[in-house]
Amino acid sequence: MNDEQLLRYSRHILLDEIGIEGQQRLVNAKALIVGAGGLGSPAALYLAAAGVGRITLADGDQVDLTNLQRQILHTQERIGQPKALSGKMALAHINPEVRVEAINSRLAGDALAALVADADVVLDCCDNFATRHAVNRQCVRQRTPLVSGAAIRFAGQLAVFDSRRAGAPCYSCLFPEADDVEEERCAVMGVFAPLTGIIGAMQAAEALKLIAGAGEVVLGRLWLLDGLSMDWRSVNFGQDPQCPVCASGDVK
Ligand SMILES: [Zn+2]
Repeated sequence: MNDEQLLRYSRHILLDEIGIEGQQRLVNAKALIVGAGGLGSPAALYLAAAGVGRITLADGDQVDLTNLQRQILHTQERIGQPKALSGKMALAHINPEVRVEAINSRLAGDALAALVADADVVLDCCDNFATRHAVNRQCVRQRTPLVSGAAIRFAGQLAVFDSRRAGAPCYSCLFPEADDVEEERCAVMGVFAPLTGIIGAMQAAEALKLIAGAGEVVLGRLWLLDGLSMDWRSVNFGQDPQCPVCASGDVK
């Protein structure tokens, strides 16, 4: 790190749990953020501000007036622009040191596989089960840690998965893929604006801890937030021995 970086990140470096070594790991790291919406906005802002050296921000949508209530990466002036590009612009204003790659499409297939393979950590900030399961499959296959978040109405949830650890559960162990799962979308269900901020910021916190090697990342626990009472509760879960994604030796 140069002198300016040492200054910029000094409040991290002062933390014993991060220090120069942990901050250097952040500067050297690459994060993939899937979704530049309500969760992806605070997650991306914190990762960039904290100095994660390379960030790939993927989203296939354009900025819409109805996004601005919670998606704090975007601005009134950028309505109609691709969210990934709008997000890249916002991050550059906070920290020009960070190299941001904007992917203006919904990730799937080989493109997703290549990006997951290249990432040190993946943040699932998307809004649909098909992408969540596709991201999970690639994270299991590539053994890339996955920080998953969700927010709808006043309900938030967070879980971290790390397939580098033997016997670790995956997203599919917790939420098996099924054809009849009804998709709950913010577009129709509504979502409390700061709830996405709380969960997205927690995703950033867990991702930064994973990269820097600070503290403890709790695996096998789903955190649930009731935003109306501000009550947190957690549910422990283990690997599903029948999980088609992580339990068989042959990942689909
Ligand atoms: Zn699994």
